[in-house]
Amino acid sequence: MTTDTEFKAWRVEEQNGEYVGAEKTLSTADLPPGEVLIRVSHSSLNYKDALSASGNKGVTRSFPHTPGIDAAGEVVESATGTPSTGSPVIVTGYDLGMNTDGGFGEYIRVPAAWCVPMPAGWNARTAMIYGTAGLTAGLCVQKLLTMGAKPEQGKVAVSGASGAVGSVAVELLSKLGFDVVAISGKADHAEALKALGAKEVVGRETLAEEKKPMVKPVFANAVDTVGGGPLAELLKQILPGGSVSCCGLVSGPGLQTTVLPFILRGVNLLGVDSVEIPLAEKEAVWKKFSGEWACPKIEASARDIGRGELDGALKAFLKGESSGKIVLDHAK
Ligand code: NDP
Repeated sequence: MTTDTEFKAWRVEEQNGEYVGAEKTLSTADLPPGEVLIRVSHSSLNYKDALSASGNKGVTRSFPHTPGIDAAGEVVESATGTPSTGSPVIVTGYDLGMNTDGGFGEYIRVPAAWCVPMPAGWNARTAMIYGTAGLTAGLCVQKLLTMGAKPEQGKVAVSGASGAVGSVAVELLSKLGFDVVAISGKADHAEALKALGAKEVVGRETLAEEKKPMVKPVFANAVDTVGGGPLAELLKQILPGGSVSCCGLVSGPGLQTTVLPFILRGVNLLGVDSVEIPLAEKEAVWKKFSGEWACPKIEASARDIGRGELDGALKAFLKGESSGKIVLDHAK
């Protein structure tokens, strides 16, 4: 057993009803019990971190709290032997950063069953460029492929395309040969989305509320990261037999639709969860991203920030103004 170590963490506290994040010094003795102590070098920014940092009780029940649903680093203590001390690991999802102190601190302590070995050829920063958002994009694409999606069937739409999940989905689908239509509210981001591989970039008005229960279908398949009204409209625009992978709720958790797309066109709505799925499923997707699914443009365009820049970066998520992948580098 090593001695307790002091470390820095970006900690959120409740102050007069407001939730305020700031750098604090903690000790590893402050971390929850668990089998594996990890020195975190990098984390990744996600919409859920922004919800936690703003006091959303559906994500984090009690404060003070260290957000960060993603972490990558080196094992410094292991009660189980697997993962072994000194090995590089990735931890995403489960309760990390929700009600268990997360990757915005330089140390985390978690169950061994949450740790994925770092894929060969990757380091912590590479893993955190993808993070939960990349993993989710990979799971969305994998579900479409499992349902038989093929490039020759027609265009694939990606909503929330400039976001963390959407941008990885755009590059991955384009790499797999699909004609990707990026749906984005950021007109000034069109060139960046084309550079990631989008064939077309259209505005969010493409999914504006339409009174008719069905409209002319245009997309063979889709990845939806926004939920709410835009997802209801997207379902009306899917060609017979097509599928929509649904993972997000930035536009709202409600979904008001009719059964018509499902019973007249055989459209499939596929739910995607990246958080509670078995570790082996996460590991399989990480392995693909470290090999044939590598997204070099996403890797090249990722932005690194230090803990001092977290506040502004997380607030941009809540305003829908964030774009691309953002990595937290604890050494910055
Ligand atoms: P981001 O904030 O990075 O991206 C979301 C994008 O959606 C924005 O960049 C914007 O893109 C668009 N958008 C924002 N607000 C609205 C709105 N009101 N209406 C329509 N579009 C909007 O978030 P992430 O990519 O990290 O996450 C996307 C969603 O996926 C979140 O809801 C998140 O909680 C969820 N998620 C779910 C996971 C799961 O396991 N199921 C795992 C990871 C994320 P643009 O300007 O290009 O339109």
